[in-house]
Amino acid sequence: MTTEMDAEAAVKELRATFSSGKTRALEWRVSQLKALLKITEHHEEEIVQALRSDLNKPEFEAFVHEISAVSAACKFALKELHRWTKPEKVKTSITTFPSKAEIVSEPLGVVLVISAWNYPFLLALDPVVGAIAAGNVVVLKPSEIAPATSSVLAKLLGEYMDTSAVKVIEGAVPETTALLEQKWDKIFYTGNGKVGRIVLAAAAKHLTPVVLELGGKCPAVVDTNIELKVAARRIISGKWGCNSGQTCVSPDYILTTKEYAPKLINALTCELEKFYGKDPLQSNDLSAIVNSNHFDRLARLIDDEKVSDKIVYGGQRDKSNLKIAPTIMLDVPADSLIMSDEIFGPLLPILTVNKIEDSISEINAKARPLAAYVFTNDKKLKEEFIKNVSAGGMLVNDTTLHLTVSGLPFGGVGESGMGSYHGKFSFDAFSHKKAVLQRSFAGDLSARYPPYTSKKLKLLKALLKGDIIGIFRALFGW
Ligand code: NAD
Repeated sequence: MTTEMDAEAAVKELRATFSSGKTRALEWRVSQLKALLKITEHHEEEIVQALRSDLNKPEFEAFVHEISAVSAACKFALKELHRWTKPEKVKTSITTFPSKAEIVSEPLGVVLVISAWNYPFLLALDPVVGAIAAGNVVVLKPSEIAPATSSVLAKLLGEYMDTSAVKVIEGAVPETTALLEQKWDKIFYTGNGKVGRIVLAAAAKHLTPVVLELGGKCPAVVDTNIELKVAARRIISGKWGCNSGQTCVSPDYILTTKEYAPKLINALTCELEKFYGKDPLQSNDLSAIVNSNHFDRLARLIDDEKVSDKIVYGGQRDKSNLKIAPTIMLDVPADSLIMSDEIFGPLLPILTVNKIEDSISEINAKARPLAAYVFTNDKKLKEEFIKNVSAGGMLVNDTTLHLTVSGLPFGGVGESGMGSYHGKFSFDAFSHKKAVLQRSFAGDLSARYPPYTSKKLKLLKALLKGDIIGIFRALFGW
């Protein structure tokens, strides 16, 4: 267990490493990114086993969603690092002429990454890639809810990384609380909004900046003029094919018209059966629910008397294996338990609207989600959706894939979080953008110094307005 003294000692050691300047060197950053890459290349089987033990995650999902995503982030950072770390030239104005201005990215210092259990390998290491690329020292606190992956991370990072600069501290609430007592230069937290508020309050004590990667209820709007089979498969892939819906960007609920809902349900159930068979509880391609607390939480959502007659598909569960079948509900009431919070599991309510355009106001009446999806071929609806729905990110005619585009920032807005990462945004999240202006001793304009005269004021007014004639007038008294 990490006491406050242990946490303090770890931070002290890391701060000494940071002060030594070694993590600023590009060679160090490259060596650590390569070490992370090696972990993904040499320990695939061990990581897959840990993810199986924590979540019964299918090997396919473990590899595609976690191991290869970390490896891609490392490779991208290694490829781009030189460009990212170069000072960025910016234009100057006449006010500072002659001069040159640049934005210099510098590491923030000692950073804390607190990660969540649903993608316990990816969500732990993806931010660490950014922190290292930007030249910081890091403490990673993996989620205790995925203990096998937490222990693999502690072991492998201990073996491969420079442990004077990158430390894994395992633990639950007391350990995280002890860590949060310390002064950090950045805290990167992934998890729910309730703990997000605890993290933000702890950070405020030290004026520490934070990234909060939270969740929310991600809507998917399904129009009537679409290729239904493709849409159904893509919804299934983002919901049940992503860790049984235990994914921050999984579609949480669907909005479609009353007339179209039966067709959509038919397409979803037809494709679900093709993917997971007639008895999905027996399928090896569906992750389990992470633990019995979350299983009971989801069971309560199914057993809520307000929705018990709304189940149109699924509903079966097996507590001994922590499995819940893909479950679809139609027209659940707004005050049901399932609509009051993020579902984070394999249950999908479908809500109906009179006109598909009404979906936008339905979404905007709720907290801003981490992701919003629309399936449509209607150009106007697409444009209205992009313009009027506020969400961390959005995707037209598919689900979840926007996360894989390294040029797009990944993060929330409002209740779904603050700050973002992925690709260069990860580097930026862990960098301070230092403004640097350089001048020589030439061009020392006496007009800026006292005694202030009306001629000097005239000249400066003309200079600041960029009024060339006014400058000559002031200088030569025209
Ligand atoms: P979790 O239980 O693993 O908690 C996250 C972290 O917070 C853990 O490391 C845990 O030790 C720590 N923690 C828990 N209680 C704490 C406390 N009282 N004080 C200090 N630290 C504490 O994960 P979770 O919160 O169940 O994760 C699920 C949530 O995370 C969902 O809302 C989901 O949408 C969101 N999420 C967001 C993203 C994203 O990238 N935006 C990714 C995954 C999950």
